[in-house]
Amino acid sequence: MADNALKFWGVVGSSPVSCSKDRKYGSHTICSTLETGSDEIFIIDAGTGLIRLGNLFCALPEPEGRRIHILLTHFHLDHVLGLPFFKPLFSPKAQITFYTPWDTQETQNTLQAFMGGRYFPIDFMDTASTKYFRQLPEGASEVAGIQVSWCPLNHPQGSVAYRLEHQGQSWVLATDTEHPKKGEDERLTAFCQGADVLVYDAMFTPEEYPEKIGWGHSTWVQGTRMAEQADVGTLYLSHLNPDYPGAKLDEMLHLAREVFPRTDIACEEII
Ligand SMILES: [Zn+2]
Repeated sequence: MADNALKFWGVVGSSPVSCSKDRKYGSHTICSTLETGSDEIFIIDAGTGLIRLGNLFCALPEPEGRRIHILLTHFHLDHVLGLPFFKPLFSPKAQITFYTPWDTQETQNTLQAFMGGRYFPIDFMDTASTKYFRQLPEGASEVAGIQVSWCPLNHPQGSVAYRLEHQGQSWVLATDTEHPKKGEDERLTAFCQGADVLVYDAMFTPEEYPEKIGWGHSTWVQGTRMAEQADVGTLYLSHLNPDYPGAKLDEMLHLAREVFPRTDIACEEII
């Protein structure tokens, strides 16, 4: 579990894994929500964790015109795979806005390409919900009462970190990034400065990372350094490696806390 406002519904990178006691932190790919006390729903990334969230929504009475805001960090499958199975997408009562830093037509076309054709039986744009698309410019934008800004990350085909701010609190989600050779990503460190929460890419251990240079992911060591330098409140290690069992992640957490004591591992909500 994260803090009261930020919740994790999927914390695994690359591919979902089967649920077992070995997967104590979760088994679904990346999806988080921010709750602000309003009726607006803010979702960051649409990995398979989104399916659980959609099922939860369907278990509750569905309000007319529910407004859902989905911010996508990029389009790799582990960040969009929940979308075709997100039940509100098929509800005529749902209004869903998709946000990216990219051109709105590009966002729509990319989602349509992966959810349609011979990949899926219903075309993305033929689903019953009302869909909107919005490009987030550089700098801060207002999204339904919260401030949103983004920072480009070092990841194949590009990805961004989002910084969300609401009533003096701030959350940065940087789940897919590879640190530069020299170690510190100064632009991202500046972007995270003073955030209450930093969610950081801890896909590889420092021992395994040298074999994975160029894959676009980072380590807990870089996460703890960034958390220290940016003076963040709590660091959550996320984009967990699907091949790492719970015990290995526990060990990672133990080592990370020796450097930055306010570290935790992103853990999926239990419903
Ligand atoms: Zn990813």
